[in-house]
Amino acid sequence: MERQKDPTQKHSRDTALTTSYVRAFSVLYYFLDTEKASRMLFPPSHYCNTPGCTNTNTLRDKAGPLKAVLYTLSDGACTTFSTHLSCPSCRARYYPNYVVRDGTRTYYDQIPSAVQVAEHQYVERAVLNLFTNLLLISWTSATNGAHVYNETLSQPEKRPDHPDWMDISFKLHPEHVWDGFLLISLLEQGGTIL
Ligand SMILES: [Zn+2]
Repeated sequence: MERQKDPTQKHSRDTALTTSYVRAFSVLYYFLDTEKASRMLFPPSHYCNTPGCTNTNTLRDKAGPLKAVLYTLSDGACTTFSTHLSCPSCRARYYPNYVVRDGTRTYYDQIPSAVQVAEHQYVERAVLNLFTNLLLISWTSATNGAHVYNETLSQPEKRPDHPDWMDISFKLHPEHVWDGFLLISLLEQGGTIL
């Protein structure tokens, strides 16, 4: 008897292919736009620097670029992509701000230009400096800092009107402000492990 093919399997395969094509074209579009490509977020090194690791090859990008929002001072809440790399030898995973080894997150020594505050959200250092000054000079809370950003700096008219970005929130939340403030303070004081 001829085996009936499950139509749902073909549908999910087609959906997966469509998703990967959309992602590939989105990234290609970014690389064609020099200004946007400059906002892409990468780990600072493409080689593993785990003590004792013998891997000398470039790290692997298993997941591909991931959609993210970068909250900037001059261009509002921008679309971008972040890249995560992994080492097949020691299993270390390298992200734009930190590396994860055996479940421990260690931030890089250098102060980053953008701090990750949620899975898909990064805040530019200039924005965090603004929040720090608002806090110190006028006692502005994280809630009001986020409100100021969303109302005056976010530039919602620049957001893409594309279904591929509909599942991403462009709104800056108070916890993003607070987490970014704490992280940048920790890094400026030389701390690297949370
Ligand atoms: Zn390694």
